[in-house]
Amino acid sequence: MTGAVFSRAAGRDLPVVAGGNGAELFDTAGRRYLDGAGGAIVVGIGHGSAEVADAIAAQARQVAYAHGTAFTSASLVEYAEALGPLLPVDDPYLYPVSGGSEAVETALKLARAYHLARGEDRSVVIGRTGAYHGNTRGALDVSGRAGLRAPYQPWLGSAVHTTSPYEYRCPFPESHPAGCGARHAEELERTISAHGPDTVAAFIAEPIAGAALGACVPPDDYWPAITAVCRKYGVLVIADEVMTGFGRTGRWFGCDHWGVRPDLLVAAKGAASGYWPLGLTVCSGEVHDTVQAGGFVHGYTYSHHVVGAAAGLAVLRILQRERLVEASAERGAQLAAELRAELGGHPSVGDIRGRGLLQAIELVAPPEAGTPGRALSGDLAPFPRSARVAERVVAAAKERGVLLYHSTGCADGTNGDLLVLGPPLVITPAQVSELARSCAAAIREVLD
Ligand code: PMP
Repeated sequence: MTGAVFSRAAGRDLPVVAGGNGAELFDTAGRRYLDGAGGAIVVGIGHGSAEVADAIAAQARQVAYAHGTAFTSASLVEYAEALGPLLPVDDPYLYPVSGGSEAVETALKLARAYHLARGEDRSVVIGRTGAYHGNTRGALDVSGRAGLRAPYQPWLGSAVHTTSPYEYRCPFPESHPAGCGARHAEELERTISAHGPDTVAAFIAEPIAGAALGACVPPDDYWPAITAVCRKYGVLVIADEVMTGFGRTGRWFGCDHWGVRPDLLVAAKGAASGYWPLGLTVCSGEVHDTVQAGGFVHGYTYSHHVVGAAAGLAVLRILQRERLVEASAERGAQLAAELRAELGGHPSVGDIRGRGLLQAIELVAPPEAGTPGRALSGDLAPFPRSARVAERVVAAAKERGVLLYHSTGCADGTNGDLLVLGPPLVITPAQVSELARSCAAAIREVLD
């Protein structure tokens, strides 16, 4: 047998991608797709940018690789200087890696190294139920996806999980909607106390929970209360901005919606918009100085990649010049309004939520078809997982030439079927309308 690609889509007849332009992709058969998901909420500046391709080529032609312990480069230094003022981190230091999971691993190690350097043996990291932070061991450990964790449980470590602010299925219906943030903060404090404050190194969370929980925006009192608890116990705050960073939610970073200043921040996806596998771990000057003094040893062959920095810098310049963060806020508001107009009142559309161009639709079952006992706060239950409802809607939308992203209901009933929309930030108003219309038509086709 000749060589073959090991793909998660094995057995499915995939189209062969041939080109892209802005919010559109094309296959070799000449079909056009409106990319309503930017791949996996990756592409911010749009497909087919000659400017980014040229920047990558120019850097590769000059020099493609020099090990990060032997050299720095103009593109790395320039990138850190250009990005620094936009980051919600005090005196930020940039550690470029190759993707989101690597960035999370780096942040987890930095958190432990920070405490060790201060003479504190803290190792526990607190994540949140239903969260996704990546597929490598450490990132999976802090993720709260029961189904993903289960097969690898014997390899997982000491992470523990606290509640997620998920207003549609709020774990604290008695305090909903006001005061919910305070209840989550109490839970976090309880979790820290249960494990012993002197063992807890960090708390990791997305400012707005991305694909896994479907663009869940926390109540406004959530982040102030959570960060206060972390500060009280000397627990570092790690903001996972892999999905929310670089304008996706209508601000440069998700943290900016609430003025959150994390000690560590991880980003990827939008950083190089898919043009290069770039991830970033950012730490505060205090964390940097402390771990450097403590002798932090960490690295990947491809960390500090000069071509990655050139790609990131080119993408950053385009985001700024084209005012794409503002565009994300505007087009996002349009998308949310048009989805509501198309789908509001549909019996299987439980919730439409999000910020900027990160929007999600939670599909819910008619009472007789749902999973018994999973409805919280009086909302309708998810469909049974076996119905694969979100997956079927994504397939129906693709037939219509529109690409969506989905997260199927969790085995433990944490969430229902989710459709996630995260088109390139360059999407036009007419394309936003097309996306909302086609998404609604695909939902009706599958569920009516
Ligand atoms: N964190 C979040 C919030 C993510 O959405 C993802 C990817 N979907 C990751 C981490 C992992 O990133 P990667 O797939 O680049 O390793």
